[in-house]
Amino acid sequence: MSQEEPDKDKPGEVGFPSLSYSSIKEILSCPHKFYLRKVEGVEPTTSPAMRVGSAVHHAIATWWKERDIGRVADELTTFIDFETFQKAWPLVSRYIAELGHLEPVLIEQELEKEFEGIKVRGFVDLVLPGDKVVEIKTTSGGASKFIATAHADWQPAMYAWLLGWEEIAVEYHVIDTKRSDVLVLVSERTKEDIENVENLIRVASRIVRQGDYPAMPGRQCQWCGVRAYCKFFVTR
Ligand code: SF4
Repeated sequence: MSQEEPDKDKPGEVGFPSLSYSSIKEILSCPHKFYLRKVEGVEPTTSPAMRVGSAVHHAIATWWKERDIGRVADELTTFIDFETFQKAWPLVSRYIAELGHLEPVLIEQELEKEFEGIKVRGFVDLVLPGDKVVEIKTTSGGASKFIATAHADWQPAMYAWLLGWEEIAVEYHVIDTKRSDVLVLVSERTKEDIENVENLIRVASRIVRQGDYPAMPGRQCQWCGVRAYCKFFVTR
């Protein structure tokens, strides 16, 4: 490596991975998957359901930024194929009809904090008056399944940690892609939840600092988008 080139294996250098909620989740479930995606830059394969979820999220973000349904449609048609558009558009329309009247005080807010030499980042979808954060989620597994697991979701606690808050209220906007339904779920995270998040971030940041990314094969390999590059499978 020349002297001018950044060393992506060194904390603080350009190219060294920063940690988001999804990165930390990934490191905790399989460090090698994180390594392939964020250090080696492998593009994961995506399923049709994932493409619909991503298109819906992108379209709704456009709605909040521009409040113009024509612009949302334009953005979607340039961003995705027709089949995905046909599935995503009714969901986006339903969301806007039900919740598009809200008046967020912040939209797509980026948060960042340095922790033990590693950059930790988060993107809050919306903040409503009264410091209530909004998480926009799509689910193909059914809303009731989402509700059953939502209270264990530590993403809102991570936002509170990034913001330096001692507690946080979260409003989930859940788009059920199977039933074309929109559900609002309100939840809270406590000081204890936020302290637990710091422990998760500590474990993940140590793995990244050490630069040792073991493969952890398990059930998640069934839907792993980088499996074709995984050292555990390609060497067998
Ligand atoms: S296939 Fe399994 S072991 Fe390999 S990177 Fe993916 S999750 Fe990890």
